[in-house]
Amino acid sequence: MSALKRSASPALESHLGLNASRSEVQYTHPAVRRSKRLKATTVAIKTKEEDYDEGLSPLTTSESTDEEVVVKKKTTVSRTRTTRQTASPAKQRRESSPRKAKPIQQALDVPHPTPANWREVYDKIKDMRSRIAAPVDTMGCHRAQLEETTPENQRFSTLVSLMLSSQTKDETTFTAVTKLREAVGGSLSVDAILAADESAIGNAICKVGFWRRKTQYIKQAAQILRDKFNSDVPKTVDELCSLPGVGPKMAFLALQDGWKLNVGIGVDVHVHRITNRLGWHKPATAKPEETRLNLQSWLPIELHPEINALLVGFGQTICTPVGPRCSDCELSNGLCPSARRNVKTKGRKALIATTSTATTASGPKIEIAVEAEVKVEENS
Ligand code: SF4
Repeated sequence: MSALKRSASPALESHLGLNASRSEVQYTHPAVRRSKRLKATTVAIKTKEEDYDEGLSPLTTSESTDEEVVVKKKTTVSRTRTTRQTASPAKQRRESSPRKAKPIQQALDVPHPTPANWREVYDKIKDMRSRIAAPVDTMGCHRAQLEETTPENQRFSTLVSLMLSSQTKDETTFTAVTKLREAVGGSLSVDAILAADESAIGNAICKVGFWRRKTQYIKQAAQILRDKFNSDVPKTVDELCSLPGVGPKMAFLALQDGWKLNVGIGVDVHVHRITNRLGWHKPATAKPEETRLNLQSWLPIELHPEINALLVGFGQTICTPVGPRCSDCELSNGLCPSARRNVKTKGRKALIATTSTATTASGPKIEIAVEAEVKVEENS
């Protein structure tokens, strides 16, 4: 059939129902099919990278979730596999040798200028957040340690929670951590993870994104912690980033929560997106690490530990990745350059503002439902 396809005239092809394009005809050739497969793999990889980048885009139109090294590592693995189909033995040997991890950059050579109105903006966000309960407040990674009694297990459970949180909503992470703790005997410790079967860990965390890979990472990390760090979480960002599946955001948050060390800002997709929407980076940053270094260069150091939860909660409720609620945001009146007007939303839940019995100095606590899916229509 392939020989017939290759030689058939357009008229004959049409008669036989083979009115495929030239490229489709060529695709049936076995040799070319292999090349197409490679091409298809490359496209799939690119799509993953694009998804990752879109998730970090400050004005993204897709639902973005926390992601750090997992997708990058997955992509690297896939790419390596693809390359190995054609790479020379020498190149394969080079690729398989371990690469030395680069130290995490701590500061910019030239500090980023301080945004003119940042304090006013920051205080307004803080005020809005004081009246809004966001998922991060009750189910964030810092909650994991509350169920543990020893400092080592508290630190380890925070680290595991952070590892599970990439590409995953806080609610799902919180449930997975609870299930994992039950699955390993009631306490989330290095020894308990090492003693547990991978299948038990996988079953407990199977609702989080990339759970298979995270299962391996948690097992491997526990082994490294036992062998190199006396079964405790290390105290430096470089040591933390040497663990599989741990990137700078997780490392800085683990140090803040676990060791009370304020050595850097945990920048996730919310912090990255919102600070870009606010115009705090000139030029706009493309990567969370650029965002972190900019912020660290001018934001007062005493605010570094709190800005993550502040902006994550703001991003979960008001300045959402898709269809931000600018009409409900106090920054839309000239303080935010990205404020959108005339945005109509279809199919999204309305803001649910329920006055609870708890009150704060700045007013009653308000609960806001966070939508899973929204359709957005823009009139302008
Ligand atoms: S005005 Fe809109 S884009 Fe700007 S911070 Fe508020 S919700 Fe986000």
